[in-house]
Amino acid sequence: MRLPSASELVTVWESGLGLTPIERGLRLLAALFPEASDEELAHFTIGERDAWLLTLREQLFGAEVASVATCPHCGEPLELNFSVSTVRTSAGSSSGQHREVTVRAEGYAIRCRLPTSADLLAVAGMAGADSAQQALLARCILAIEPDATAEAPPGPEQLPAGVAAAIVEQMAQADPQADVRLALVCPACSHQWLAQFDILSFLWAELADWVQRTLREVHQLAVAYGWREADILSMSAWRRQWYLQLIGE
Ligand SMILES: [Zn+2]
Repeated sequence: MRLPSASELVTVWESGLGLTPIERGLRLLAALFPEASDEELAHFTIGERDAWLLTLREQLFGAEVASVATCPHCGEPLELNFSVSTVRTSAGSSSGQHREVTVRAEGYAIRCRLPTSADLLAVAGMAGADSAQQALLARCILAIEPDATAEAPPGPEQLPAGVAAAIVEQMAQADPQADVRLALVCPACSHQWLAQFDILSFLWAELADWVQRTLREVHQLAVAYGWREADILSMSAWRRQWYLQLIGE
């Protein structure tokens, strides 16, 4: 992984305007791995993608995360402060060795691979969460074998609901970085719940703020000194701040 330059980050963010979150995730990965093909990046599991996005976040904005949640019971806003390391799971590395799981349920052994960006993109346009999930399972199931007592194996679409649920659950366990949840307690009403932390949408929103701030700095320095955008963006943040202070004096 290489850290994108300020200019590349602005371009990535701009290119993601109007795209879906999954597509934005792929743009970010492409900036981290410029030598990888689009197809290779689309075949990272969601947990692998999110592990890299956590690393990018750490390197861009630091290891401490400040966020807010809202109590689903009483509506009280809750400030969240945690470290990236607390939401990082060990299984999220990009080894590629754990991309398959075998699920045993109701007499079947089902070999599946873990969902990737390519899979989510393929089912993204489908109406209805149920049909999208069924299509996702159909894409990810590699083989279905019955045990000795069962008859001929069904197709992925005819799996009993209990088997499908077991597959979804074990896929989630095998790729825990894809679905990070924080155990929260409301200080006002003591309600306890699990809040999802989605690094992709969180980092994208942070990038949006950073791009707005940085382009405002570019504007101020360009007006004051007549420097080119590319030259200003190639400066360190520290040096931009230094010149901005001089302008302000
Ligand atoms: Zn509450």
